[in-house]
Amino acid sequence: MKVILIRYGELTLKGKNRKEFERILYNNIKKQLSDFDLKFSKDRNRIYIELDDGVFNDTIDILKIIPGISSFSLADICENDIDEICDLAVSTFDITTPIFKVETKRSNKLFHMTSPEVSRVVGGALLKNVQGLKVDVNNPQKIVTIEIQKDKSFVIHTTVRGMGGLPIGSSGRAMVLLSGGIDSPVAAVEAMKRGLKISCIHFSSPPYTNEKSLDKVKQLTCVLHKYDNDIKLYDVKFTEIQLAIHQNCFDKLEVTILRRMMLRAASRAARKVKAKVLITGEALGQVASQTITSMHVTDQTVDDLILRPLIMMDKSDIIEIARRIGTYEISILPYEDCCVVFLPKAPAISPKLSEVITEEAKINFDEMLDQAEINMYDYDLLNNKEKIINKYI
Ligand code: ATP
Ligand code: MG
Repeated sequence: MKVILIRYGELTLKGKNRKEFERILYNNIKKQLSDFDLKFSKDRNRIYIELDDGVFNDTIDILKIIPGISSFSLADICENDIDEICDLAVSTFDITTPIFKVETKRSNKLFHMTSPEVSRVVGGALLKNVQGLKVDVNNPQKIVTIEIQKDKSFVIHTTVRGMGGLPIGSSGRAMVLLSGGIDSPVAAVEAMKRGLKISCIHFSSPPYTNEKSLDKVKQLTCVLHKYDNDIKLYDVKFTEIQLAIHQNCFDKLEVTILRRMMLRAASRAARKVKAKVLITGEALGQVASQTITSMHVTDQTVDDLILRPLIMMDKSDIIEIARRIGTYEISILPYEDCCVVFLPKAPAISPKLSEVITEEAKINFDEMLDQAEINMYDYDLLNNKEKIINKYI
């Protein structure tokens, strides 16, 4: 019988919460693999998925991006019997990688052979029964791992590294400020990797930003759906607010005030979906609004915790992740984001909170935020359908 054997990694550190984490991971895996006909089970350390030959390859790309999985292996199961273990190792050996070594892990200390003895016997059986094999303990092309547990043994052929991190949902809910740029989708994935279940909020300013720029953000959300297909996107029409800022506030402070209003709107939406933290794609010093002074002034408009997963990262490293997760090519499409629509030539890099507050007092932003239109989008990726669920505010 073939199984995928899933290891949890960091979860093992989580003491009392461990059961809950395991439960969330188990359900996340089931949900992500729901298109396949598989049988799931778990014990204290592992999740097992029974499957037919050949299905494994189709599951690899999905399992690789489920946060909370440290690694997973394709394995065959047999009785705790050394002859059966040898037969299985021989019959399932993939000869395209003939240079090998055998490693044994024996959690069943009652088994009559030690781990090195098992490795030696299985290695000997492979050399004897499969043509053209060679042992190299220092530089093997492949490691055959034998695991001897209480009531069964595993012969493990392929092990794939997982994403690590914590299962989505185990750290609570977050609202991600998702622009059409390179950074915020990466921040969204980093947040999910640390166990946050995310919703996304985007600010658009039609007619100054066009449908295509919103479309880009929808496409980015669809890529994020590979990690969690429940993610909702809230699109907030920010035209009135942006115009008010542009027409009434001191040029240099426009960006700071715009950022503060985005956070306020995000905070309101977060409350509605019970998100406890706001996430942005900011990185220290990347642009004028991302100096420590700017960010400090920006933050002081909401009580929410604001996390910036990319804060200490170089752009080139962020780009590398964006390429890997598949958002980069979408992010570089040339449609304008609302931030650049009325961008002043020289935004303040050290705005003063008192000045900002004086400027903001010229406009009744609370009333404007009350009236801002927020649409919630949901995506049915399978049918390539988009539905506007409701007018949110
Ligand atoms: P990105 O590449 O994510 O757009 P950026 O380097 O261009 O980031 P800014 O445009 O200054 O940076 O935005 C900083 C952060 O503010 C973004 O990462 C995002 O979290 C948030 N943000 C900016 N514009 C928008 C928007 N139109 N809608 C939602 N969030 C936004
Ligand atoms: Mg941007």
